[in-house]
Amino acid sequence: MRYISTRGHAPARDFAGVLLSGLAEDGGLFMPETWPHFSAADWRAMRGLSYADLAARVMAPFVGESIPFAKLSEICREAYAGFGHPAVAPLAQLETHLFAQELFHGPTLAFKDMAMQVLGRLFDHVLTERNTRVTIVGATSGDTGSAAIEACANRDRIDIVILHPHERTSMVQRRQMTTVLAPNVGNVAIEGTFDDCQDIVKALFADTAFRTETGLSAVNSINWARIAAQIPYYVAAALALGAPDREIAFSVPTGNFGNILAAWAARRMGLPVARLIVGSNRNDILARFFEKNDMSMAPVEPSLSPSMDIQVSSNFERLLFELLERDPVATAAAMRGFRETGRMTVPDATWHRVRGVFHGFRLDDPGTAAEIRRLYETSGYLADPHTAIGIAAARAHMPGHGVPVVAMATAHPAKFPDAIEAAVGIRPALPARMADLFERPERFVVLPNDLAAVQANVRALVGRNAG
Ligand SMILES: *Cc1c(COP(=O)(O)O)cnc(C)c1O
Repeated sequence: MRYISTRGHAPARDFAGVLLSGLAEDGGLFMPETWPHFSAADWRAMRGLSYADLAARVMAPFVGESIPFAKLSEICREAYAGFGHPAVAPLAQLETHLFAQELFHGPTLAFKDMAMQVLGRLFDHVLTERNTRVTIVGATSGDTGSAAIEACANRDRIDIVILHPHERTSMVQRRQMTTVLAPNVGNVAIEGTFDDCQDIVKALFADTAFRTETGLSAVNSINWARIAAQIPYYVAAALALGAPDREIAFSVPTGNFGNILAAWAARRMGLPVARLIVGSNRNDILARFFEKNDMSMAPVEPSLSPSMDIQVSSNFERLLFELLERDPVATAAAMRGFRETGRMTVPDATWHRVRGVFHGFRLDDPGTAAEIRRLYETSGYLADPHTAIGIAAARAHMPGHGVPVVAMATAHPAKFPDAIEAAVGIRPALPARMADLFERPERFVVLPNDLAAVQANVRALVGRNAG
């Protein structure tokens, strides 16, 4: 399998190349050159597999020749062995035709673990083959950093340094990062804001000498390997509910468009997905696009669902590329126009085709709290704010005709105890395996908002582990 850039000016890569490079050199995103296709018989043959074995089967055509199938299977088994539920991504039934798929049983209690746990191991394998190392750096306002740290801790070929704004993350978020004491993990609290942290990371990448010396890399949400590792749970849910002999719909609380793009990919691969429902909070650029072909930027406003407080959804470019019939010139022009004017529309006929599959939905904070309460009162189910938006979106756009809708439950309620307590008066407990999070020792350094100080810190970590 080869990968091409959505903007048409980068050399094609194999899976390993795409994994290590993330973004294409022309600023575009990598897409598979052709979509793998599974027949109805192929899907049926996957029924009854364990989650890890299913994941390896579904990812195999994307991985191609880069990694032998036996190794990929081993990676998937290891990745999901540490999850807190034997089904890995279990379904909870909320109504006759409405289900929640729980993607939060990984080490950091949010759906990013589903892909990141695989990604860390894929990195390690490819780096061992190439006899090289990388240093992953990133900035986090909370959740992404912990998923990346959990994915990379104790990997032989990776060092990881995550910057967070000092005393500006929640206690749970900070401790999920700083209590990982592996020797290849560095946590840096910057005396500044999240934007300061991001600026430092950008400056680290812009310093070519430093970048080469330390082998800098990122594991951000535009990496195709993350999308590939998110397709299997859509397949697992669909098979459990009767696919390929029954249609299914998915509802996804959406930020960077990575999660729902994986659902779109499953559909392109032949899974009978009748409808995709996109849930947004008050930052509703996607909902406006799907409602009225209006993709126009607005300032980001904080909400109860912070992982969806995003205006420019980076993975949307991949859908755009597909909608524009894989024309890289048209895709590059549309993205350039969007950056320059803050606005994008697609041709009418294209938009009507999109509307045949996608439905947008928005819910503000009071609506989200009301949905958390309604769910708890009707079914006893505790949903975090992100999940509640996905479920409300599903209820608003049920396809009917007996087609079941599966809403993605993207975070454990205990990650957002204040919002849950405000809505239903209960403070959800952390799962037993994490109950001692507040007693575990922490390790992090506090540094001034200063590039040279961070560079020295990264160099020291890399030097210690280079051995
Ligand atoms: C990251 C995240 C999302 C958004 O997922 P995207 O792939 O960015 O669309 C939704 N909910 C939670 C809890 C998340 O952590």
